[in-house]
Amino acid sequence: MYDYLIVGAGLFGSTFAYEATRLGKRCLVIDRRNHVGGNVYCENIEGINVHKYGAHIFHTSNKRIWEYVNQFAEFNRYTNSPIANYNGEIYNLPFNMNTFNRLWGVITPKEAQKKIEEQKKAAGITEPRNLEEQAISLVGTDIYEKLIKGYTEKQWGRNATELPAFIIQRLPVRFTYDNNYFNDKFQGIPEGGYNVIIEKMLDGIDVKLNLDFFENRSELKGIAKKVLFTGMIDEFYNYKFGRLEYRSLKFENEILDMDNYQGNAVVNYTDRETPFTRIIEHKHFEFGTQEKTVITREYPAEWTPGDEPYYPINDDRNSEIYKLYKQLAAEEKNVIFGGRLADYKYYDMHHVIYHALKAVEKEFNVTII
Ligand code: FAD
Ligand code: UDP
Repeated sequence: MYDYLIVGAGLFGSTFAYEATRLGKRCLVIDRRNHVGGNVYCENIEGINVHKYGAHIFHTSNKRIWEYVNQFAEFNRYTNSPIANYNGEIYNLPFNMNTFNRLWGVITPKEAQKKIEEQKKAAGITEPRNLEEQAISLVGTDIYEKLIKGYTEKQWGRNATELPAFIIQRLPVRFTYDNNYFNDKFQGIPEGGYNVIIEKMLDGIDVKLNLDFFENRSELKGIAKKVLFTGMIDEFYNYKFGRLEYRSLKFENEILDMDNYQGNAVVNYTDRETPFTRIIEHKHFEFGTQEKTVITREYPAEWTPGDEPYYPINDDRNSEIYKLYKQLAAEEKNVIFGGRLADYKYYDMHHVIYHALKAVEKEFNVTII
């Protein structure tokens, strides 16, 4: 008999399992995949840690969370500075003085601001109502056309005028020559990849892989006093209020017989015609010096039931459905819900760790963070 059955060996399940075990509880962690780590899992190919479910860069401004993850791995000095390739023209991201200079030849922040103001005024936008209007009012029409429109419409499979403004607000716009994609105080990649962290968290804890909670519900019933569920909340309730929708991705890996393909870990393809949104060259996350290189082309994809759910579609319809599931979840006495699938929310890794630690604090009446 276990104290906790933890469904999902991702970052949420693993953090909870680690802390509960430290507090003397017996945990069984299960996952339907054939590996632990959830979406942060890395596969070693040609000595390179390949981020199997998309590029993962750890970043946070929360010092406690930074210290917390650093107990499991040493982080390198990687700073994410993607570049954009628009039909062969190269621009720095996020939008900053390097981008503005390359595009318009402007040199000072004042000149750049003037240019954006002019374009915003010409577009006649006062109150941005959607992603297109929000983008133009932040960076002007030229950048919107070259670096945002195509990428966004590929990524989300719909027109930028039909998308909520908030999606673009998470990208910094800076009037300094600073190519750091994030504003956070701490950033890096764990040396040896994310598996190092997960393996340490789950060290000594019972783990069963290739085991789906729903397919084995009757056998798993009674195996533990409580369940921590990090899978899809609508699946838990047998879709009784309808299915929650997602956006999916397809990854195409290639091993190349060269040591350096694109000179950067992340290159975004921002034109509409290139079918993928970005190419990741994994070795650059860890300053690799291997003879070969592994690249991944990332294709956005429609999600249909059975596909990997990557990005929740937080529109009105889905938010309403999620609310109904959440109400049911709140009434459960012996099931705790957490993580990006159970909360139906886009979480970064630092958010997931934070929420997992908060769940531990609540469950065991302790203070950790
Ligand atoms: P998951 O990692 O999804 O783990 C859930 C686990 O539960 C999975 O392993 C799944 O197989 C298992 N499971 C589900 N249902 C069942 C079931 N019925 N039975 C058994 N097992 C089940 N964050 C950052 O901080 N920086 C980044 O750069 C970044 N990049 C990202 C890029 C992409 C493309 C994506 C999709 C996400 C990115 N993230 C990034 C977010 C990050 O991946 C998540 O915050 C984190 O991995 C979520 O952890 P989790 O435990 O909640 O979920
Ligand atoms: N975006 C864009 N061009 C880029 C990068 C991002 O238009 O080169 C937009 C796009 O709408 C994207 C959003 O900014 O969905 C957020 O970008 P981020 O890199 O945070 O997320 P992701 O690309 O993983 O969706």
